[in-house]
Amino acid sequence: MIIGVLGGGQLGRMLAMAALPLGVRTRFLDTSPEAPAAAVGELVVGDAADPAVMARFVRGLSLVTYEFENFSADIVEAAQAHVPVYPPATALRTGQDRLREKTLFADLGINVPAFAPADSEEELTRALARIGTPCVVKTRRMGYDGKGQAVVRTPEDARALWARLGGVPLLVEAFVPFTSEVSIIGVRSLQGEVRTYPLVNNVHVGGILRQSLCPAPGVPAGVEETARAHMSAVLERLEYVGVLAIEFFEVSGRLLANEMAPRVHNSGHWTIEGAHTSQFENHVRAVCGMPLGDTGARGASMMLNIIGEPVDAARRLQMGARVHVHDYGKEPRAGRKVGHLTIVADTPGEIEPVYAPVRG
Ligand code: AMP
Repeated sequence: MIIGVLGGGQLGRMLAMAALPLGVRTRFLDTSPEAPAAAVGELVVGDAADPAVMARFVRGLSLVTYEFENFSADIVEAAQAHVPVYPPATALRTGQDRLREKTLFADLGINVPAFAPADSEEELTRALARIGTPCVVKTRRMGYDGKGQAVVRTPEDARALWARLGGVPLLVEAFVPFTSEVSIIGVRSLQGEVRTYPLVNNVHVGGILRQSLCPAPGVPAGVEETARAHMSAVLERLEYVGVLAIEFFEVSGRLLANEMAPRVHNSGHWTIEGAHTSQFENHVRAVCGMPLGDTGARGASMMLNIIGEPVDAARRLQMGARVHVHDYGKEPRAGRKVGHLTIVADTPGEIEPVYAPVRG
């Protein structure tokens, strides 16, 4: 069986590595011949919007999935003309638009920060008056790793931001003085089986994920169950197939949903060594119609991203016997994720976080 993956980044690479032992081969579609996934799967280089490229990509595939969400949903429809595509296009459309995302959460009774859309400078002024300051103004689409967003404190800040972001549709959100940031990964199979991973604590610096800890420290009882219930509700509503990630702000034990990603997620990399079945393997199992694997943790884990500097595996491995280094084979560049490492232990007390996981 060969599955197609739109995008050939490190997420695709880790998907391919999980797929192979299941007897599933992968073919990637990416605009770059240097795509990290090329080391472990077939690579078609080209523009997915080009029908000839799409036809070449889908030839002989059983299905198509994706490992990033910033591409036109029309491309999913183009692929769907040939083979099934999972997760479904509605999930992609929701995941790539912050307004749809927040509206879905609110519809399902999931708490979110106060939000208002702003498609013009006048609407931005009105939204600011309604939400109050400080607030966070984000582009509705194409935002990732903290790009396309800024904290706004005054109407002058907002005017400058409107000009800087180029007049694109925005979402204004209340600034959340969170205690911690947490995320949950869930998976739903073709047959409708749902499983969720344990809640993890995430630390972002400059909008980029630096550290994930499992289990999430300092989270009051019941919060994890709430997150699992929210995940199940979203998976069911979207008739989802595959892995989904939802990020939350935790404010003194109350969860506010921030965003979702309709794909395997950086805050789930710890599952490769830290869970019985990794998010990558479970994504492959889900889309291929196989039974899902155990999402339980083997112990405690800390995942650290390696950003903007070369991955020196020999040095990183000195951090301890149970350290696992992942080098994505990418050229280092400021702010670029080039690898990660995961430290596993039997108990959380054996792991010393690099970043403080909970605000003092
Ligand atoms: P996002 O792209 O929405 O995941 O935002 C990136 C990071 O910016 C988040 O992980 C938070 O650390 C921070 N952030 C985003 N939105 C808010 C908000 N409404 N209040 C406080 N911090 C935020």
